Amino acid sequence: MNGDILLGSGLSPWQNGRAFSVTFVVTEDCNLCCKYCYQVHKNSKSRMTIETAKNAVDFILENPDIFIAESVIWDFIGGEPLLEIKLIDEICDYIKFKTFKLKHKWRSMYRFSFSSNGILYKRPEVKEFIYKNKEKCSFCITIDGTKEKHDLQRVYHDGHGSYDDVIKNIPAWLEDFPLATTKVTFGSEDLPLLKESIIHLWNLGIKMVPANVVFEDIWHEGDDVIFEAQLKELADYIIDNRIWDYFDCSLFDKTIGIPLSDEQKNRNFCGSGKMIAIDAEGYIYPCLRFMDFSLNNKKPKIIGDIYNGLYLDKIRPFLGLTTLTQSDDECITCDIASGCAWCQGNNYDSSDNNTIYERAKFACKMHKARVRANNYLWRRLETVTDKKYKPSGRKFLYFILSDDSIEYCQYDSTKNTVMKEVMNSGILQDAMQFCDQSFFEPVLLHSTNQKNIDDVEYELSFPCRQILSVNNHTNIKGNVYYVVDKENFNKLNRCDICILNIKRDDIKNLSIYVNKLLETCKRININFLDLNNSFHFEEYTKQLEIISKNILMYYVKGRQVEVNVISDRMYLNSMNNCDAGIYNFAVAPNGRIYICPAFYYDEPDNYVGDIYAGIDYNKVKQCKLGCSPICMHCDSYHCNRCTYINKKFTEEINTPPGFECRKSHVERTASKVLEAELKKMNLIDDRAVHIDSINYTDPIFNVVNMLGINPYGRIFEGEGYEAN
Ligand code: SF4
Ligand code: SF4
Ligand code: SF4
Repeated sequence: MNGDILLGSGLSPWQNGRAFSVTFVVTEDCNLCCKYCYQVHKNSKSRMTIETAKNAVDFILENPDIFIAESVIWDFIGGEPLLEIKLIDEICDYIKFKTFKLKHKWRSMYRFSFSSNGILYKRPEVKEFIYKNKEKCSFCITIDGTKEKHDLQRVYHDGHGSYDDVIKNIPAWLEDFPLATTKVTFGSEDLPLLKESIIHLWNLGIKMVPANVVFEDIWHEGDDVIFEAQLKELADYIIDNRIWDYFDCSLFDKTIGIPLSDEQKNRNFCGSGKMIAIDAEGYIYPCLRFMDFSLNNKKPKIIGDIYNGLYLDKIRPFLGLTTLTQSDDECITCDIASGCAWCQGNNYDSSDNNTIYERAKFACKMHKARVRANNYLWRRLETVTDKKYKPSGRKFLYFILSDDSIEYCQYDSTKNTVMKEVMNSGILQDAMQFCDQSFFEPVLLHSTNQKNIDDVEYELSFPCRQILSVNNHTNIKGNVYYVVDKENFNKLNRCDICILNIKRDDIKNLSIYVNKLLETCKRININFLDLNNSFHFEEYTKQLEIISKNILMYYVKGRQVEVNVISDRMYLNSMNNCDAGIYNFAVAPNGRIYICPAFYYDEPDNYVGDIYAGIDYNKVKQCKLGCSPICMHCDSYHCNRCTYINKKFTEEINTPPGFECRKSHVERTASKVLEAELKKMNLIDDRAVHIDSINYTDPIFNVVNMLGINPYGRIFEGEGYEAN
């Protein structure tokens, strides 16, 4: 990634979000009655007294062994907190007095934080408070956008809108807090006003606008379409006016829309359980969303009180909350899960089983719409600025642009000596649309003789990955991967990654080609086009040894080069296969979808969907690792696990032939040897994993061992045992 701009950078929270948050719910009353407010039982009875507040402060400050964070945010909320500004002022004075008296580490490491509707901002007592505490204050006023949008939701008790009363306080607020942000929430009926509302807020001087859609069950058919269209129009506005370095809106985020990392799966998105909220009675909650006045359907969740302390058994469930422990399989395996948010309190309130461990998914389609709009924005921006912003996901659709498309994997497209079909512009656009809707990233496989390349360049609306022969011209946009073979391997100028196609009978020259390419390329992917039973394993072992020595030599000189079949396994601790039929597919010139191009060239009638009807995942379920009885007992994690070769030689997509396994294990051995050498010389980085010693060259032995009997005797008895 090399795109460092304001748009999508997000707010960085004070102390990187590590400060402990204590929320005082000073009143449950509010001068507004916003329609989308989750505080459904607001009332004028619950008002915190100064005695309760002081007891709360004492409880927290006098237990530094429990509240151990290095810094704290004292957060004041309601209802509307400014209704109680005098009380808040007293509480803040007391906090300052008490932290100094105790020489507490929070005496300087604190912030006072407010979320207000802004109606009372100009009251003298508010001004006075701000004057006194400005340096330590963060102050958020909620203004939802244009008058029309704001007044749709943010209304007084008699139903009239509050925009006019808030807007007159905005200049003073921005003068006090020039970097202040607001918080915008969108529901179903105000979605069509999204674009103009965000622009309105930017024009008011609020440069960074956090916004979200509501999590509750309020969405109607077609809301996602409106949301996506509005965001795309906003994206066009940003790009057409070249303002991506001046404004931000959190609906645009470079990190959303990719699968969750293991770290993200084991974290909780929401902060409840790592902060506390205190009500007027002195009861403590994981956050104010678990208080009675915020819940529609459930009892409050009290986790302590300021007189008796925390109820540890009631806190335990909140500590165990992670994405994994509360999400269903669809969310855990979701291809675009990153950035798909939830509110823990809403999960609880919506749960069918009265639990906090049940994630509500009412906004699922809204997240999908947001991801599509983000993909649109970042691709357009990449085109305009020629920089990369958004990381790739894991789903790729390979476009076979013509029947003589370049081979990038273990198949032969040259049987089509006469070029028959070429993908026409209609199919190309429809396939792009399919990618958009289904979250695939397109990868273009160009014709080997360059017939269609200029047309395709013209058709593309954004730069995408492209694979083409080094014989083709090089003025192409996007991420280009060149393919070379024995005829043209020395034509390649400097590049990051190239694919070397080679045939079995040329294996003795493998190291010559690779070593030459390593002079100019950082990474070589070796690709055998015609693998079968007569593969020369001894020669392959020899060739990999020569290449490994060369890689080692480059490491010694400080240049880290990679050759897929040797380097990849050193850094893998789980399977990283070609994923055809799982995440990756190919689209043919006629719009049909195949597991990969190999299937198209070999069995054109064996397609698994098309760009209009989509993919029939039932037809490809055997491609998954969990359905492969041999591969699931293997640790040659770098192996392609080629479903095409499987089908061709064993007639089952999930079962590899012996030569495929043996070849991968020759490579595994080469990785292990190189890794040992690099470790000896202290040249390998921390990402490297230990490669175990094993005593087999084909994981079928593991399967036979588990059977307890070997029905085929010596055929499966340790052929080619590896002694390392
Ligand atoms: S709610 Fe929907 S979009 Fe979000 S992670 Fe789950 S399946 Fe994916
Ligand atoms: S199944 Fe995968 S490894 Fe095999 S030819 Fe297709 S893309 Fe290549
Ligand atoms: S070496 Fe064989 S068993 Fe292991 S992943 Fe590759 S094909 Fe599967």
